[in-house]
Amino acid sequence: MNCLETFRYYKDNPHEFSFTLSEKEKDDAKQKRYLSNLLSSSVKVSNDIFPSISKGIEEVFEKLNIQNNFSFFITSDPMQANAACSVMPFSSNPDIILTSRLVELLNEDELKFVIGHEVAHYHYKHSLYPNHTTASGRVDALNMLNLSRAAEISSDRIGFVACKSLENSLRAIIKIASGLSEKHINFNFSALLKQLKELENIGRNESELWNTHPNFLVRAQALVWFATSIEYKKFSSSKGGSYSLKEIDQKINETINKITGNEIEISNKEVYERALIWGTLKIFVKNGKLSKDEQDKLKNKFGENKISSAISFLKNTNEKSLEKKIEDAFEQAKLLLKSEKNRLMDELKDKASSIGKNNAGILKILSKFANILEDTRIITF
Ligand SMILES: [Zn+2]
Repeated sequence: MNCLETFRYYKDNPHEFSFTLSEKEKDDAKQKRYLSNLLSSSVKVSNDIFPSISKGIEEVFEKLNIQNNFSFFITSDPMQANAACSVMPFSSNPDIILTSRLVELLNEDELKFVIGHEVAHYHYKHSLYPNHTTASGRVDALNMLNLSRAAEISSDRIGFVACKSLENSLRAIIKIASGLSEKHINFNFSALLKQLKELENIGRNESELWNTHPNFLVRAQALVWFATSIEYKKFSSSKGGSYSLKEIDQKINETINKITGNEIEISNKEVYERALIWGTLKIFVKNGKLSKDEQDKLKNKFGENKISSAISFLKNTNEKSLEKKIEDAFEQAKLLLKSEKNRLMDELKDKASSIGKNNAGILKILSKFANILEDTRIITF
């Protein structure tokens, strides 16, 4: 079983977005400069110079059953316990840079967690995800950040698989978060859980919403749940497993939402609903009028207030500004996740089929919507 594909966290799904995972343009001069900087500032890990780190790395690749075409470097940084994976465009040889503080802080098994985590970032092509600063608007940016946090959850799972121990993975997380070494730490996961509960009780935290990483408590909790999944138990040839990975993924998503607040879901829902209302109105008024029955249907679904104000807009507007309203709603909806856009198109097709089949005019409207939403499925209704 290829654990990397099976264990990927469900929200870490770039196919839900419109971007393509394409390499940036190759820049030879930049590549040379980068490598030169790396070689002159950091020590490349080899069996000759750092035998125990090198052995740990080999064991990680063996465990993950992937080819080691990576170069590892240790860079002197007495302050930050960090690891980073960087890949130059069009290179199949990624570099992983570990700081001296990280290596000093973690024991060999805990270090495997970090190495596995970084290798997973490369394997999943996380570095090709667009940065949220390139987003078109707030909703798009929030969705991208959610993807970025999801990428960390996936990578932690592979780090855990690589070091083969939940306790070592959690120790690594605690050490990196606290900056403290072995002699201070008494491993007690329920104390961490207590801290997470305290954080959840405070509720939504705006800054977490804009973080590219989930906080360490969420990451620890996510790993503990993952370790009890039926899928992981099967992979590690141990008995039991309380929940399916699908259920675990849901629980993790709920925990993340508690802390980031549900603004992402609310914003997405608003964008979705606006496009659905204006799309449905466009379909319904195709025959020149909005019947009482159609009005009631809309009111039942979206509420009296929203529909009354939409209807009064319809009455007092001209074709051009109605088109603009619809266009705006769909331009926003274009930024929704793909599964949501497909669901939106399905709902619109449903609305269309409720008023009559084989109507060329309606089909034209639907294809225009599908075009904006980048839905390439054939329209049948
Ligand atoms: Zn990471």
